[in-house]
Amino acid sequence: MIRKIRFIEPSNPPYRRALRNFFTNGKFIRNPSVGTLMVTTIAQRLVEDTLMYSESISEIVWDDVLDADIVFIGIFTFNAQRGYELAQYIKKNSSAVVVMGGMHASLNYPEAVRYCDYILLGEADESVLDFINSLNQNGDIDFPGVAYLNNSEIVHTGERTPPQNIDCIPNYDLLYNYKKMASYNTVWAQVHASRGCPYFCDYCAIIRHLGRGIRTRSVDNVIKDIEQTIAYHDRRFLGIVPRANKIVWLTDDNFFADRKWAIAVLNAIIDRNIKAPFSTQARYEIGFDDEMLVLLKKAGFVEIVFGIEFLENESFDQFNKRCSYKEVVKAIRNTQAHGLEVRGLFILGADNHTVGAGRKIADFVIEHNIKGVLIQSMYFTPSTPAYDANKHRLIHEDWKKYDGNVVHYPSSISPYELQKELIFALGKIYSFRRLLRALVVEKWLYKLIFTGEYFWQNSMRANYKRELSYLKQISD
Ligand code: SF4
Repeated sequence: MIRKIRFIEPSNPPYRRALRNFFTNGKFIRNPSVGTLMVTTIAQRLVEDTLMYSESISEIVWDDVLDADIVFIGIFTFNAQRGYELAQYIKKNSSAVVVMGGMHASLNYPEAVRYCDYILLGEADESVLDFINSLNQNGDIDFPGVAYLNNSEIVHTGERTPPQNIDCIPNYDLLYNYKKMASYNTVWAQVHASRGCPYFCDYCAIIRHLGRGIRTRSVDNVIKDIEQTIAYHDRRFLGIVPRANKIVWLTDDNFFADRKWAIAVLNAIIDRNIKAPFSTQARYEIGFDDEMLVLLKKAGFVEIVFGIEFLENESFDQFNKRCSYKEVVKAIRNTQAHGLEVRGLFILGADNHTVGAGRKIADFVIEHNIKGVLIQSMYFTPSTPAYDANKHRLIHEDWKKYDGNVVHYPSSISPYELQKELIFALGKIYSFRRLLRALVVEKWLYKLIFTGEYFWQNSMRANYKRELSYLKQISD
């Protein structure tokens, strides 16, 4: 009988205690994966002794993990190699069954299956229960959604229908050491309310993993989760500072994909009188939806994170991102006119990007008063059309470098110059002068966020700089 299960979210690099990681873990803002925690919560229904480690917030207690019967490891592309290292270490040093899942393992299972015993493909909400039940019975894996090796041959047990009922409130008590940092070291408390997106951007791995059909949690379940999440993160620092008022981040990739449902959630937040600053992600079109923007403001949203990605129409076309520069600018202005701040996600490395592309993004961000950014070089997740179209141009498949670094030969600029553009853009947006400005002129919430991001983005910049000498060699 399975008596003990451990889940691990690897981090790249793994957590090391240091003064500077009050806000950051070297590279990453300290937000553990809410998806892995959801599956942990579901697994605990069958096995009481279930716990999750996230290397973004703590070190792994190895005596505990090596004593487990099953260890699940969830990976994205950027932390895949660390996940493989952990899987191999556990296989070598324990008798645990090692199972991998998550976006990278699912979309790239012929690679991932070499490092573990099984892969749970796609969303594991239901397959995790089937898996535990199978091991508790005769050990035969006779249900869809699993890949494994049988005498070096890959066995795929068939496609699985994604779960339709996704109502689940993650239990943060199952996340090792999270309580110690919740509210103090986290800026965003997370709630994931819906899955899928109807669009088809070529670089997007999310739709390949979660699909283009929208599945939503029930409004009641989302509201309960929001209330519990706020309560969990609403704590005093040393008992003397007023309660931290952290942002509740609805981490859906496109919260407004089901408009009717989004309106119902917003109305429920208003009706329940939930008081918190909220943030979520959206495509630019939401910036034209005045009814939604009014409702968002009324519900307490402080910002919308737009996946802007590019500033040129040719780049939107190249990656099938239905969008135009003019519309993006109009959407930003209208969103801000409704009293909501805008954050932006950007990508460098489209075919038309040349020297100056980084400066262009930085100038755009500053000119349009965009409150924070994530800028990455073009990313390529196996199985996406962008990966398939560009795999001959990839510099390497060293996944640990797929965290924003330049990893391909762009058409109109060298990899080295493009990396310099990235470093320049982050340096200009997160300069010391702009930090001082934020501390003087911004509202307290954005003083806090900008300060955290200043350290995080500068640690990312330092990493990107370390890659320069290698990129110079391969560019010459
Ligand atoms: S809009 Fe966002 S989530 Fe939807 S397909 Fe494009 S990148 Fe993916």
